[in-house]
Amino acid sequence: MPKLREALSGVPAYRAGRPAAPREDGSPAYKVSSNENPYPPLPGVLEAVAQAATELNRYPDPNATRLVAALAERLGVETDELSVGPGSVGVFQQILASVAGEGDEVVYAWRSFEAYPIMVQLAGAVSVQVPLTADHRHDLDAMLKAITERTRLVIVCTPNNPTGPSVGLAELDDFLDAVPRDVLVLIDEAYREFGGAMDPAADPAKRYRDRSNVVVLRTFSKAYGLAGLRVGYAVTRPRIAEALRKTALPFGVSGVAQAAAVASLAAEPALLERVSALVAERERVLSALWGQGWPVPDTEANFVWFPLGAATEAFAVECEAAGLVVRAFPGDGVRVTIAEPEANDRLIALGANARDRHL
Ligand code: PMP
Repeated sequence: MPKLREALSGVPAYRAGRPAAPREDGSPAYKVSSNENPYPPLPGVLEAVAQAATELNRYPDPNATRLVAALAERLGVETDELSVGPGSVGVFQQILASVAGEGDEVVYAWRSFEAYPIMVQLAGAVSVQVPLTADHRHDLDAMLKAITERTRLVIVCTPNNPTGPSVGLAELDDFLDAVPRDVLVLIDEAYREFGGAMDPAADPAKRYRDRSNVVVLRTFSKAYGLAGLRVGYAVTRPRIAEALRKTALPFGVSGVAQAAAVASLAAEPALLERVSALVAERERVLSALWGQGWPVPDTEANFVWFPLGAATEAFAVECEAAGLVVRAFPGDGVRVTIAEPEANDRLIALGANARDRHL
């Protein structure tokens, strides 16, 4: 039998959200487990995809030249400060491959994005998980204290998946001042667009340009609605961007995906409209749940977090019965994506119903 790498033992495969099958009474069920966008691709995207598909016999542009140029212009950075990859999870893997090897430590808050522990372990590195505060936020002081000589990477997920709160900019400034310069800080902003702070001066991708040890990670999967095409990117200093290119899978981002991302960037007004509709839905759900007495944290992302502890699985089963396929983290809580208004209505109705049973 071939020997498998020791690092694989005990690694769970990444759990994808299940598709939502129609319910027995024929009414639709909603997949609200993967923080996807309920809207179809932005205007112009399908045309760009069809055009790019005429060249499927060719390898894609390995440098994603048009996409990188469009991103540089949008963000106000240089093209050599950008690196595009197959989803932000793909870029995350490149970041790990660039800085963290056997026995190196990666510090991040927990609970946070499920792929972090899996991919850190696969890289042969060691996860150092720092518990969130009681109000489900990053404990940046504790994270600073967790940094050792072996630390190569610190991850700040903001807004935090699955709990929802963001780290404030002033807090982030102080944190970055205190982190040793030879430790890379990854700011994972997969849900940035839902946070409302679209002011360029408040954009970490620009704000931290004078820092040699910061990488900002973004994706087209969430607000831009291109989860199925796998495009993410990093904004960082040229030295690190170059390392990300070295650790990239050759031709990892298809021409179709690159074209769709370029067309999505060009559809900014429609993007902003959709984001504000989703944010309005999120606020409607949040205030209804708070009104019902649920201790759900304030969220700046496109999901809400029910910190249910031992009642997690029971609540998830009730959601499923109501036609909501949610993401349950056993013993901890349930994360529900803000989706179509009908799905959100069901969540509110279920919340009113289930509150007394679970709290
Ligand atoms: N970071 C965070 C915090 C996420 O929640 C996700 C997706 N669930 C990702 C990264 C990866 O997204 P993608 O690979 O689709 O860009």
